[in-house]
Amino acid sequence: MKFSRLVLVFEEMEKKSSRLAITHDVSEVFKTCSPKEAKRVTRLMEGIIAPPHEGIELGMADKLAMRAIEIVSGKSGKEVAATYRKKGDLGDAAEELLAQRRQHALAKSELSVEKVYDNFYKIAASGGGGSQDHKVKLLAELLSNAEPNEAKIIIRFVTGSLRLGAGESTIIDALSESRSGSKELSDEIERAFNLTSDLGAVAELLFEKGMQAVSAIKPKPFNPIKPALAERLESAQAIIEKIGGGGGSEGGAAGGVRGCSVEGKFDGFRLAVHKKGSRVEFYSRRQERVTHMFPDLAEAFKKQVAADEIICEGEAIGFNDATGTFLPFQDTMQRKRKHGVAEKAEEIPLKLVLFELLYFDGVDYTQKPYRERREKLLKLVKNAGGKGNRIDVAPAVIAKTAAQLQRFFDESVSTGLEGIVAKDLEAEYTAGARKFAWIKLKKSYSEKLADTVDVVVIGYYYGKGKRTEFGLGGLLTAVYDDKHQRFRSVAKIGTGLSEAQMTEFASTLGKIAVKKKPDDVDSVMEPDVWVKPRVVIEVNADEITRSPIHVAAAEKGKGGKGVDETNIGAGGGEGEAEGLALRFPRLVRLRDDKAAEQATTERELIKLFELQRKSRGQSSE
Ligand code: AMP
Repeated sequence: MKFSRLVLVFEEMEKKSSRLAITHDVSEVFKTCSPKEAKRVTRLMEGIIAPPHEGIELGMADKLAMRAIEIVSGKSGKEVAATYRKKGDLGDAAEELLAQRRQHALAKSELSVEKVYDNFYKIAASGGGGSQDHKVKLLAELLSNAEPNEAKIIIRFVTGSLRLGAGESTIIDALSESRSGSKELSDEIERAFNLTSDLGAVAELLFEKGMQAVSAIKPKPFNPIKPALAERLESAQAIIEKIGGGGGSEGGAAGGVRGCSVEGKFDGFRLAVHKKGSRVEFYSRRQERVTHMFPDLAEAFKKQVAADEIICEGEAIGFNDATGTFLPFQDTMQRKRKHGVAEKAEEIPLKLVLFELLYFDGVDYTQKPYRERREKLLKLVKNAGGKGNRIDVAPAVIAKTAAQLQRFFDESVSTGLEGIVAKDLEAEYTAGARKFAWIKLKKSYSEKLADTVDVVVIGYYYGKGKRTEFGLGGLLTAVYDDKHQRFRSVAKIGTGLSEAQMTEFASTLGKIAVKKKPDDVDSVMEPDVWVKPRVVIEVNADEITRSPIHVAAAEKGKGGKGVDETNIGAGGGEGEAEGLALRFPRLVRLRDDKAAEQATTERELIKLFELQRKSRGQSSE
């Protein structure tokens, strides 16, 4: 397939906001793909060249990309930099400079998707001495064969500034549409994606072996599974009503109340463990391989878990053997380092508290009910609950009444846990989805908001006085609109940053600063500096309020609806609110284990707003 065909779609995506139209365009491209092309096109549409667990990322620095532009355009470094400054976007600069190029490459050949993808892959995979020159050479080779508009897309792709109009759900719908003419295959394709975290591989399989093969996909060790996520409810009573089974059509009158399982909510580092034979790997909630951080837990796992092939999940958390208490998140996170892991393992021993079984010796447990998964997990872990063990299984009780659930919650909080996660005994493991199979109830820091919120930094302010020393006075943050893949402003955070945090943030954010508001950001607030929406922080707030200045959950001019879907906008207090905002937001911590797309979504924010109303007895604010 010609790369120019894909470029047309990327250009359309940058213009169009209609998801329907983008889905259709992408499905038309898929229709002409071979299986191998389907894989590459899928990856390029996702903005990646390999699934996250392969650890191969492109992210080329602007400086290197500029060198390649220099070579191919015949311009000086100064001229390239000046054009970049003028345009504010390196892709646009490349387009202009290459259009001016007088001498065309002698043997210019039309770029194929395969060639572009393969060079991207080589750029990302090349490391070690002299690798920078090699990267520049590979990029220059592409640029010298590229039309100016192709060069623009190539440059944006390698520097990570391409506005990807096709989110994963759009690509999934497009795959379905290309095969069946409708979205009817989307759910099955998504299931396969959630189990493999590799949409490119799923697309290839679909085009090579058909839908049956995709439906037959089951978990496989070393292919990380997208984590199940928890819903929220406002009280123990609400949880029992929702999943306790008391009022259910079958379980009710005749069978008695079935209850739900309640586990402590451990505030550590979520880990998926994959084992086959003697190989053990750990994956983060972003599906990155993080085995190197936990050599002690890998050894303990081999000793304590009686399984040749297994995938299970739990929370790694700092533990004080002497006092039997868990350590705060910050201590656990000290393992997140490149060097000195062994010393840290001595200093802050971790425990891995398992709470899920997903696969065991050829059997897919994701489709079995929770009660069966847990029973098997307890059998496989030796010495669960025993003293001094490093691998444990989360203690659980069955709660049939709100009072029982509340008691377990209070006990959990008193031993230093964050709260509880209640689990539906009959539910399957809902990979990649936030469903009522799991419901969390957290100790409320503020007593007002039912949970903290994970927001994405979209810009920062220089600040005044002493704070200017650090170049950082406040952060402008956003929630994620997962339907339209947009980041929509929700809070300006001006307090709660220590000096050390400010210095750290200033340097992290400086690296992702951009000259103008990124295309996928919605905000009427203007920070001093815009940044790419990458960094996630957890914030606590007093409440969620309607806001005339923030656009989260506001009705959108662009691409769809917000608040109106839930009627929050209608029938509310005085006047028409434009959006929702966090009131008195305070930074709790950096969530570098979360990708921007894993931040709190706009829909969750709306739900939290509803929870807040309910817990205030339906009164208007
Ligand atoms: P949250 O990140 O606040 O949405 O809450 C869900 C997270 O709680 C999961 O992603 C896990 O990392 C964590 N967690 C802690 N303990 C448990 C547990 N027993 N069951 C499920 N998740 C848990």
